[in-house]
Amino acid sequence: YQSNYSTSTNNVYYKQQEPISLVGKNALVTGGSRGIGYGIAHELAERGCNVTILSRDETRGKEALGSLPLTHQNQRHGNLVADLSSSNAPKQIDSLLASLKSTTTTDDQQDSSSSSSSSSFDIIVHAAGIAQSSLFMRTNPEETTSIINTNLVSPIYLTRQLIKPMVQSKWGRIIFIGSVVGSMGNKGQTIYGASKMGVVGFSTSLSKEVGSFGITSNVVSPGYTETDMTASIIQSPLASKILEKIPIGRFGHVNDISKTVMFIIESDYLTGQNIHVNGGLFTSP
Ligand code: NDP
Repeated sequence: YQSNYSTSTNNVYYKQQEPISLVGKNALVTGGSRGIGYGIAHELAERGCNVTILSRDETRGKEALGSLPLTHQNQRHGNLVADLSSSNAPKQIDSLLASLKSTTTTDDQQDSSSSSSSSSFDIIVHAAGIAQSSLFMRTNPEETTSIINTNLVSPIYLTRQLIKPMVQSKWGRIIFIGSVVGSMGNKGQTIYGASKMGVVGFSTSLSKEVGSFGITSNVVSPGYTETDMTASIIQSPLASKILEKIPIGRFGHVNDISKTVMFIIESDYLTGQNIHVNGGLFTSP
């Protein structure tokens, strides 16, 4: 047996690769007005992306957008408002995308440096989400539909409406924010868990359909992360009991999640995965 490694002082398998530049790429981050989504929007803007955020509350969205860094010339940021929980969400999404298309065309004709969003995206991060805190038998159909629409149906619809330009440009990154609850389970989070594992199933199959076009699709599943969503739990007496189960010994920070999302975006060969970022609370089998 002769190892290939011994034939040369240089490793013959090593290939020099340029890091992927995100400067000028168009990114859409749903849930970008707060918490995990905002952290991701901020990282993308720092790397020179044109970032568009989508959320429910227009004022909060505008404030968040205004605080994103503009690091490169001609960088454009945009704010979209839609209620992803509504059964009317697909219509809202369609009309937003149609208005983006007309704004982008006008902007490009007039002045490429004006502030607006693009109508096609290279990167989509689905971070908008709502939780649940009711036992299954007490969860009514309206709450069920609202959770499933926000966390599963709307992300799928949005992906459907935005994937064509990615296929045409032969590059794209799609990231869903899942949850440790999907894999680990938790009392009072049946519907939430189902919605979060729903995106894992969707993303895994999607990765197989679009990989040959240079598009990757992955899920990042956070554990308990400090945001508005978890503030009431993290400030309650229950917090110390949860911490006992987290080997790293602290709750997650938004940056723990956004750094992982950036790692995925800057990877060519990572697709179809559900990456757990939870301080060791749950380990994938
Ligand atoms: P936050 O509650 O801090 O922020 C939620 C974001 O989603 C906001 O931007 C909000 O917009 C947007 N959003 C909520 N509902 C809708 C809707 N109907 N239509 C449009 N936008 C909506 O949550 P986190 O940052 O903590 O959570 C982000 C994601 O991470 C979620 O998918 C969540 O399930 C997941 N996650 C979070 C964990 C945690 O511990 N924090 C753990 C595991 C997963 P607006 O500001 O307008 O309300």
